[in-house]
Amino acid sequence: MKRRKFLKNSSLTAAGLVSASAMAACKTENKVDEALATPALDPIKPIVVCTWNFFNASEKAWEVLKSGASALDAVEQGVMIEEADEKNETVGKGGRPDRDGNVTLDACIMDKDGNCGSVVYLQNIVHPVSVARKVMEETPHIILAGKGAEKFAYEQGFKKEDLFTESTRKQYQEWLKTSKYETTINIENHDTIGMLAIDENGDIAGACTTSGMAYKVGGRVGDSPIIGAGLYVDNEVGGATATGVGEEVIRTVGSFLIVELMRQGKSPQEACEEGVKRIMKKNEGRKDFQIGFLAINKNGETGGYCVHPGFTYREYSTNGHENREVKSFYQ
Ligand code: ASP
Repeated sequence: MKRRKFLKNSSLTAAGLVSASAMAACKTENKVDEALATPALDPIKPIVVCTWNFFNASEKAWEVLKSGASALDAVEQGVMIEEADEKNETVGKGGRPDRDGNVTLDACIMDKDGNCGSVVYLQNIVHPVSVARKVMEETPHIILAGKGAEKFAYEQGFKKEDLFTESTRKQYQEWLKTSKYETTINIENHDTIGMLAIDENGDIAGACTTSGMAYKVGGRVGDSPIIGAGLYVDNEVGGATATGVGEEVIRTVGSFLIVELMRQGKSPQEACEEGVKRIMKKNEGRKDFQIGFLAINKNGETGGYCVHPGFTYREYSTNGHENREVKSFYQ
């Protein structure tokens, strides 16, 4: 809508400078460049969005953005709220373990310049997103895994902590009785937080953090810490993040796909819908998994789409603070 408004405004104001036919020629010549060259006159910023209804995390990120800090600081500090929340049993401390009884965390972060950092299969550290940021800022690498990531975290001053809670330990003991692995369709098993923000400067950053699928096979890594799958940011275009069954998101490099679709002119909403449809094309008739995509473009427009009803995202900007239900592939 904003882009249309811009095109309308610009055709009025620029009428004397560029002829309509020349503009039309440019438009058809390179749709991609045209999409990038038409920012809204009044982009929404700052703004933060995150997967699911994480009120406290989005509020924290909003405070950080309002203080004039970067989108990178906002997304890190925002998702840290969920990592520390023991009641969230799919992120950070209190995350449910794998089949072997190990709580293993995956997280990544990406900034406006395309810098990124990630940790996979990290144990005993409450804030994997901050370790991921250290990987990005303090090493020449992007991904650190397992023991190496843990050793690096201690070197950076992170403290060793038992990630089990009384509740998750009890649940695990219960689970061991049947050892049944099920990918529950909705929030019961998918509460990964993916967060995208635009700061006062109009720069975009994103972060994603999770304990992954509950009772996963030991060693399993999902989409959440994989740049391009669980998260992707391109400061010229926008950002995207995912929650749900990571294997399906990895197969389509989901978040990268969505950002590229936006680059080609799709709105965040249209891009998320196309992302889910690509996944469903590869899984025709399958109904036993959930995926939710969330996207934001450079103008601060947002959108989301999912496989089954139930996925929501929280948005916080000067326009208000709300939890949005998104449309789904299946009704
Ligand atoms: N995407 C996460 C994973 O596959 C799970 C989730 O979103 O709950 O590890």
